Amino acid sequence: MAKIIMKTPLVEMDGDEMTRVIWKWIKEILLEPYVELKTEYYDLGLEYRDKTNDQVTIDSAEATKKYGVAVKCATITPNAARVKEYNLKEMWKSPNGTIRAILDGTVFREPIIVNGIEPFVKTWKKPIAIARHAYGDVYKNVEMAISGPGKAEIVFTDANGNETRKTIHDFTGCGVIMGMHNTRKSIESFARSCFNYALDKKMDLWFATKDTISKIYDHTFKDIFQDIFDAEYKEKFKEANIEYFYTLIDDAVARVVRSEGGFIWACKNYDGDVMSDMVASAFGSLAMMTSVLVSPDGCFEYEAAHGTVQRHYYMHLEGKETSTNSMATIFAWTGALKKRGQLDNIPELVEFSEKLEKASKMTIEKGVMTKDLAALSTLEDKKIVNTKEFLLAIRKNLDELYEV
Ligand code: NAP
Ligand code: MG
Repeated sequence: MAKIIMKTPLVEMDGDEMTRVIWKWIKEILLEPYVELKTEYYDLGLEYRDKTNDQVTIDSAEATKKYGVAVKCATITPNAARVKEYNLKEMWKSPNGTIRAILDGTVFREPIIVNGIEPFVKTWKKPIAIARHAYGDVYKNVEMAISGPGKAEIVFTDANGNETRKTIHDFTGCGVIMGMHNTRKSIESFARSCFNYALDKKMDLWFATKDTISKIYDHTFKDIFQDIFDAEYKEKFKEANIEYFYTLIDDAVARVVRSEGGFIWACKNYDGDVMSDMVASAFGSLAMMTSVLVSPDGCFEYEAAHGTVQRHYYMHLEGKETSTNSMATIFAWTGALKKRGQLDNIPELVEFSEKLEKASKMTIEKGVMTKDLAALSTLEDKKIVNTKEFLLAIRKNLDELYEV
């Protein structure tokens, strides 16, 4: 078979540690034999970020804006220990934070479902994707401890110096207060990202807040979603045969648990933080969670939800065998290649991505898996393989899919 030719380059963001090792192997074993990879390569490994004073991260985000699709390897977010370990000039910011600030997007997380790794929630048959608003609320709050009796107020001073005040509480003793905010612009781009993603995936969209209690703050989220839906998306949703559904957050939680899955659940920042961990754990494993950042103007950046798997990397460096699960990183590549194929009208590339996803799932369903999954799998016969053997087993299944 002739190799698949690409048109527009895919923005490739390399990363750190064990995931950097897997990155190279995925390309060599699973991608390059089939696809004449056309990528614009950015090395987001910590050493090169340090060398370029983190300019490479900014450049990679700008390239994503230019070309529309990127695939990213997990990267180290430096802390004090990393500054020492890599002898860094500075404690560079999280690359994901930098990229998100430039692309202004929403992060969608979705589990990879395979037979034999059953969700803890028995009714869940299809994936539930969580869309988490990544700006504001309690993550950008201002808090104060109140040391004794007194009046706490909230004050807004407009550009002309006019003040609006409201009493938060007349304290008779000690307590705590908090101020938080969000912006119309950020909520609007969150809403558009969710509607665009639902159309892209052809999945229903659910959104929930506590608007009965928070009659201005949460209600603003509800209203912005509804207004944008009615003005820009109602017809498109009808054509795609999907629904937008709003309910209260507590009602949503109850419905999600009883549902069979198969929808996108849009969450405010805090709800998304909590619910994405709940959904990921209930589906089985972080190593089976994919993640994509979608910008309001339609750029896509695909990655795995897990980190650089540092513990495994140190074992690898010592020459010890590792059994690291590459599924989420493979699916980052297939997500990006499929999107590139759809945008550039290359059906063979879309087909290849789908076949690689199928071969990867088949491998696990046939009982060949990494250690993390073996602990979860309900299959009777399972074979635990090392990091590279797992990729080679997928390759074998992929080759078989192409022969029939
Ligand atoms: P991690 O890399 O997600 O790994 C935590 C643990 O989860 C591992 O030690 C391993 O457990 C298990 N695990 C995660 N992914 C796995 C996989 N693919 N296969 C098998 N097991 C897997 O988190 P971390 O160790 O806390 O963080 C390491 C580095 O990653 C940090 O420097 C952090 O900044 C970075 N990070 C990056 C991103 C990103 O780029 N998106 C996200 C999160 C963290 P066992 O050790 O029990 O086998
Ligand atoms: Mg969290």
